[in-house]
Amino acid sequence: MIRTFILALAAFIAAAPTPVFPQEKIRVVTTSADLKSLVEAVGGDQVEVESLAAPEQDPHSVEVKPTQLARLRGAALLVKIGLDHEPWLARLPAPHVPVVDASKSVRLLQTETPRLRAERQAHVHAFGNTHYWLDPNNARPITASILEGLIELRPGSKSLFEANREAFHARLDEKIRAWEAALKPYRGTKAIVVHDSWIYFADHFGLDIVAAAEPSPGVPPSPAELAMLLARMQESGVRLLIADPHSNPALVRYIAEKSGAKTVTLLPSGTDYIGLFDEDVRRLSAALKAD
Ligand SMILES: [Zn+2]
Repeated sequence: MIRTFILALAAFIAAAPTPVFPQEKIRVVTTSADLKSLVEAVGGDQVEVESLAAPEQDPHSVEVKPTQLARLRGAALLVKIGLDHEPWLARLPAPHVPVVDASKSVRLLQTETPRLRAERQAHVHAFGNTHYWLDPNNARPITASILEGLIELRPGSKSLFEANREAFHARLDEKIRAWEAALKPYRGTKAIVVHDSWIYFADHFGLDIVAAAEPSPGVPPSPAELAMLLARMQESGVRLLIADPHSNPALVRYIAEKSGAKTVTLLPSGTDYIGLFDEDVRRLSAALKAD
């Protein structure tokens, strides 16, 4: 009886395909929703990603909750924007997790602007402008860094990650052509921004950012600086003011009223990288079309 059972079992084991156990997901923590979206694009179903900052939050002043801190400690990988973009991250206890610093692979803008450098203090773009994900072409170097980080953790999934990344970029490249076409009529449009978040976006789509209302990133303008800004707007014929969702509404209203410029609030961050540009291109063309 037992012998029969063993034989049957042996036959069953021989016939059955090698059991495939679902692989445990790689737990990744990112500092922004945009990075989360890009990690998911490369990692697919092999990753479980959490962003420390919500897209509507000011990315430079994030309060990390205890549950997020625990999650960060238990993560296999941390992906960050780097430079002085996340001064709040440097203030957390070191999580001892491998880090992908996406800024390492990107060509930075405004690196020559002389500013006080203090990585643990305010976000002042001291090492160059950190809002680089807003040029959609920069997704390529960013996903290249992410790919490298994921392959290091799970070499067996290398070709899967590479295929995911290629599929994502094929989709993104097509979208980039559509966005460029939608904004083509507005190339050369002069604009002022509140926070200097839009230089990469402007560089890609051909907008001309004349000035930022914040004299230094994160610093509100004094009355004298505001007067200078308004004079400059008039001199250069600036008709567009680009605000962020977390810009000071009183400041935005004041500049719009005094200058007569049209305000458009663009989203600097989103839960879906492609959806973010869809929305910003839609908002921008709607604002400029009406002119
Ligand atoms: Zn900034």
